[in-house]
Amino acid sequence: MSDHDQSLWLKTCREHVEDRPLSGDLTVDLAVIGGGYTGCSAALTAAQAGASVCLLEAQGIGHGGSGRNVGLANAGLWLPPEDIRAHLGKRAGDRLIDLLAAAPADVFDLIERHGIDCDPVRNGTLHCAHSASGLQDLQRRHAQLSATGAPVKLLPADQATQRTGSAAFHGALFDPRAGTIHPLGYVRGLARAAAEAGARIVTQCPVQSMKYDNGQWVLKTPHGSVRAKSVIQATNAYHQGLQDTAPDYVPVYYFQFFTAPLSDNLRASILPGGEGCWDTGLVMTSFRMDAEGRLIIGGMGDLGQAGRAVHAAWCRRKLAELFPQLADQPLTEGWHGRIAMTSDHIPKITQIGPNALSAHGYSGRGIGPGTVFGRLMAESLLQDDPSLLPVPAVPEYRESWTALRRAYFETGATLMHLIKARF
Ligand SMILES: Cc1cc2nc3c(=O)[nH]c(=O)nc-3n(C[C@H](O)[C@H](O)[C@H](O)COP(=O)(O)OP(=O)(O)OC[C@H]3O[C@@H](n4cnc5c(N)ncnc54)[C@H](O)[C@@H]3O)c2cc1C
Repeated sequence: MSDHDQSLWLKTCREHVEDRPLSGDLTVDLAVIGGGYTGCSAALTAAQAGASVCLLEAQGIGHGGSGRNVGLANAGLWLPPEDIRAHLGKRAGDRLIDLLAAAPADVFDLIERHGIDCDPVRNGTLHCAHSASGLQDLQRRHAQLSATGAPVKLLPADQATQRTGSAAFHGALFDPRAGTIHPLGYVRGLARAAAEAGARIVTQCPVQSMKYDNGQWVLKTPHGSVRAKSVIQATNAYHQGLQDTAPDYVPVYYFQFFTAPLSDNLRASILPGGEGCWDTGLVMTSFRMDAEGRLIIGGMGDLGQAGRAVHAAWCRRKLAELFPQLADQPLTEGWHGRIAMTSDHIPKITQIGPNALSAHGYSGRGIGPGTVFGRLMAESLLQDDPSLLPVPAVPEYRESWTALRRAYFETGATLMHLIKARF
């Protein structure tokens, strides 16, 4: 059994997508490679605009980060607004900040409009201060976000305790724009909506090669080929094959374990308002409830490596430390996923050829950004207008010291989890 088979999201997803297998040759306006938020949002947008679209997914819809994540539909990026402006300049920075401030509203609107069965809870998120210095970081974020008009609230320790049900925090930053979803349900629902709008969704169909020939792209798969005027590559951290257009990023692994559904008594004392949470720790922890009242707790690390036992033991200690009333809850099943980090934490769009774009590197914040980037890349290609893109496209993007930095994150997370439960 692979780690992904233990995913709570796979076990509890109620959305299904009808697959229309490919055979022979197909010609469309837009070919999309990859069935995560970016690809499905692009396919939905293009099909709704009247374009012919074929989305090719190597495995199943949501096989990548989109089916494995925590399900926090956040506003903005990891970076606070001033850091985004420092990297992109004021004009491009402000545009990205505004687009991503509205991203949770976009996500919850799509869920409502297409009746996506993914347990949306729009009760906000809590970024919890794990230490005094964590609280200072939240104060800085609060000041910067408030200056952009974001309706965020800094909560003192006693209110953070009340809202989370844990006495472990020094305070919390509440963002009412955000919320939680069933992440696999959302991506499958986007794919279903795209199919209903006329897009052809093909799964178990890896694109093995792509070539620009006579003003058209030709994408080859084991089951046939697709010709298209434009291409969106939305393969991100789960890119396979296609060496020439492989996105470059630092892979960071994140795992999650879950309890059995909690009794009504326990549920009343933990996250009674239904917010999704993560903390300010350098090696971060997240926690949230699902629709059936299971507590899902996550941390950084690769369950596929020798560190599995260390990470699992840490998770049990961390759960007991945050919520002593859950100390005897078994945490037996867990899964992990790979995050595409960029060193500046800004997502990248690369121009991989004529009328061909690739997006990656949401750095752990991809539900809102993936939805927005997919939509705007489709609009930009269909209208032949690069100014519609959320960030300017670059001809190429390369990270340095990727292997070293991957080792740093994984070894650091394992050591932290080995040494102590509180950091
Ligand atoms: C454990 C974890 C927790 C996270 N938590 C959050 C969170 O709480 N909130 C948040 O906003 N973000 C979170 N993220 C980030 C978010 O999940 C990702 O940024 C987002 O899912 C990326 O979506 P995507 O569509 O770009 O790529 P993906 O969802 O990774 O999809 C890429 C797809 O491309 C397919 N593919 C690859 N190569 C080919 C090929 N050659 N041919 C055809 N198909 C191909 C893959 O099979 C895959 O399905 C988390 C990520 C992880 C891993």
